[in-house]
Amino acid sequence: MEAKYLTLLPGELHTVVAEIEHRSNSQIIVQPAHAQNVAEQGLASAVIDLNRGAWALMVNYVDDISPYTLTHELLHLKRALLEGVTRLTSRDQTPQTLIEDLITFENTMEHLWIIPEEQKFFPNESASHWNQDLSRNIGMLDSLNHHGQHRNILQLSAISQFAVRSQTHTDELRAWADKTGNANNVDHFLTDIRGAADNKTMLIQAWVRNMGFPSQLCQRARYDVDRGVEATSAL
Ligand SMILES: [Zn+2]
Repeated sequence: MEAKYLTLLPGELHTVVAEIEHRSNSQIIVQPAHAQNVAEQGLASAVIDLNRGAWALMVNYVDDISPYTLTHELLHLKRALLEGVTRLTSRDQTPQTLIEDLITFENTMEHLWIIPEEQKFFPNESASHWNQDLSRNIGMLDSLNHHGQHRNILQLSAISQFAVRSQTHTDELRAWADKTGNANNVDHFLTDIRGAADNKTMLIQAWVRNMGFPSQLCQRARYDVDRGVEATSAL
């Protein structure tokens, strides 16, 4: 990682960068990119590309990247590469329209771990970002169809209750769940998630089931950074 970006990170994360780069034998490239290539909330996104055992590791951002945002993206890379956590991914036969859903599910599940982690370094920035994000997404529920409301109320409730710990947003989402007939679905989902607390495989299974997503159209995958391979398996 270029020195000008490395200095943005908290000191104790410098060793994370060094370990990722050493074990993958690749540099983490931090670079400005066109907004349409930056998936996450228009701020930045971490991209991992593995081609014949060679890693391309990137953090793309629009306009500028803050120490908080770079830390958030590095935590995504740390989870996927150093910890080799199981990820939810699409299969060859997954229709393009459903791949977006899987990307959203996986990103939201990872945020259940990453938000509490980033809070240790940037408590104010994290709280400000995620409270705004929750407000924005709750404000958009009105424009979704019933299916979209069901999924988003469940996912936003998980983030609000377990990661951001915002009582205000949790209460607003409870009101939305009651209004749309999703109260039992939310209770069931949150109980399932609590039971999967530190087990990503169980979390993926619970997530896919509660979202009503066809399990034959997705799979689990994990990176082995040392060997330059990605192993996949059924749910
Ligand atoms: Zn993220």
